[in-house]
Amino acid sequence: MPLNLINKHADVYVPDGTAMEEALGRTTHLCIGAHPDDIEINCYPAVSECFGKPDRWFTGITVTNGSGCAREGVYADYSDKQMAVVRRREQRKAAVLGEYSVQFQLDYASSELKNSASAIEDLSQILKSSQPEKVYLHNPADKHDTHVVVFMIGLAAIRSLPVEMRPRHTYAFEGWRNLDWLCDADKVGLDASLYPNLAAALTGLYDSQISGGKRYDLAIAGRRQANATFYDAHKADKSEALTWAIDLNPLVEEEHLSVEDFIGDLMDSFHQDVLQRIRKFL
Ligand SMILES: [Zn+2]
Repeated sequence: MPLNLINKHADVYVPDGTAMEEALGRTTHLCIGAHPDDIEINCYPAVSECFGKPDRWFTGITVTNGSGCAREGVYADYSDKQMAVVRRREQRKAAVLGEYSVQFQLDYASSELKNSASAIEDLSQILKSSQPEKVYLHNPADKHDTHVVVFMIGLAAIRSLPVEMRPRHTYAFEGWRNLDWLCDADKVGLDASLYPNLAAALTGLYDSQISGGKRYDLAIAGRRQANATFYDAHKADKSEALTWAIDLNPLVEEEHLSVEDFIGDLMDSFHQDVLQRIRKFL
């Protein structure tokens, strides 16, 4: 089925030039991120699981153009439009380095995403045409509004698919707020230790953001290492770098389960865990 994206300004890029239908068909892992760089900073385990593997292919979807970002240095005088061009180019570079199957940049403005039928339709078309085994979304406890709205429309797009077309595994990853607070039984550790050179290159290429005064490249490497080391006080580290994730399968499988109830239960478990430990020593 040929894609007919509603947003005609979307950028669709296949780094190795494979025909679109085939590039979508070979996709096994798919990430829906809000801004250019969210995939590489927050969803590296999915990229690395596919890198160099003939039978696994990663496709990235970046929903907004990120034109409202802070700017410094050589970018100080850039308009929003010029910034969007720079960020689109950076996201394409990442797709080349990470050997993605397809990189979509849907070019929506953050302000138009709430309940956006067009964005949900675009996402659902891509999901239908690719039917990946694993899908990765932002998490509903993130503190960035655009991350949360992109999570909501991503989930709506998955839920719009017939059950047999939905991903077998759906995960939510860290972002503006990590997931270390989840009880151990509620969190999934995604290995982020493969090819540390590639991980560094994929975050380091975002010069517009790093020069803008945010060392995301160093911060995310530190977070992944801290996640691995602070996981278990009594055992040697199993991995040198971990990304925490939430298993979203209950939300994908049970359409009547609300996002509020789902994340509320996880927050209640954390609440109880903290109180119970204190009560042991009263
Ligand atoms: Zn972001």
